[in-house]
Amino acid sequence: MKGLLKKLIQAETTAEKGELAAANIICEELGQSGINARIDSWDGNRANLTAQIKSAGRRGALLFVCHLDVVPPGEAAWKYPPFSAVESEGKIYGRGSADMKGGIVAVLTAVEQIVESKAKLEGDIILFAAAGEETDSCGAKRFVRDLGSKLPELAGVVLPEPTDFEVVTAHRGMLWLKVSTKGKAAHGSTPELGVNAIASMKAMLDELENYKIRFEPHKLLGESCMSINTIRGGKAINVVPDKCDIEIDIRTVPGQNYRDIIEDLQKIFVKLKQENSQFEAEVSVVREVGALETDSGCDFVKDFCSAVGISETKAVGFTTDGPHFAPLSAPVVIFGPGKSELCHKPDEYIEISDVEKAVEYYKDIILKFLS
Ligand SMILES: [Zn+2]
Repeated sequence: MKGLLKKLIQAETTAEKGELAAANIICEELGQSGINARIDSWDGNRANLTAQIKSAGRRGALLFVCHLDVVPPGEAAWKYPPFSAVESEGKIYGRGSADMKGGIVAVLTAVEQIVESKAKLEGDIILFAAAGEETDSCGAKRFVRDLGSKLPELAGVVLPEPTDFEVVTAHRGMLWLKVSTKGKAAHGSTPELGVNAIASMKAMLDELENYKIRFEPHKLLGESCMSINTIRGGKAINVVPDKCDIEIDIRTVPGQNYRDIIEDLQKIFVKLKQENSQFEAEVSVVREVGALETDSGCDFVKDFCSAVGISETKAVGFTTDGPHFAPLSAPVVIFGPGKSELCHKPDEYIEISDVEKAVEYYKDIILKFLS
């Protein structure tokens, strides 16, 4: 199990390097237990992996949704090189150790042990490991689009993301927007002949300063928030800029419609255009993930909680691929080893004992729903 985890970390599955190497490692690993996995690969190195352990029974299937990709290690120095998977004092260090290769290894090991035990299952286990969860959810969207209608009826969807063994049923959504102002380039010595896109953006930023996003506070997830996190404009000190872009990170709560937010921005554009006919801007969606809100009183969640011995569910601040599985109409639960506060930071690690604990939990979950 440790060896597999190290190999997966060493596979270095950033967006740049792709997921194919990790998918191949998992495919080979599952093959040793007689489980056939299918790799769906595109663009050279991008990959999803799917495996279905079929049963003769009639109970709803359990779908485990993992992601193979990791965020880049970042600029800060690490105690150990981020993709060397160093083991020290019961922990394995490396980018992706907690988010979420520890979870992947725990699920794979649990499934292998169940298959090897020849336990009679009354429903299918489906393993899915996605590409691109950290960037654009390309893998999850592709899976739902291509295979969604071919799946058996599902009892539920489980995401083994690092929740430190909390049962998570809700998280906020994410809307990333890009606003661009357009100007007209001119020589820096004759600015009156151009239209300065940075000046237009300043007008836009002033409006956004006073803009209040519309939402109803949510009992579990609290408030929606918005932050302008990048700005780019201008090419040279002596050229009037013809373009300026900002990127806005909005975290949404259930009930919020992203089209309303875009409409609000377009209304601001109209107002600014009335004040200055040279003002020109457009808004585009960079990424949109809905909020997750699984009914914590439904039978699946209740049975899940009893399988892992936890009485209450939680909401978290981070976002997952979970909402992309809404078209499958099955309850989604996030539950896995590792601390979420270690993710996306230097010196990310996972406790080996947590991965071992997770194997036992996933076996209990599978047997609870499928035997
Ligand atoms: Zn993750």
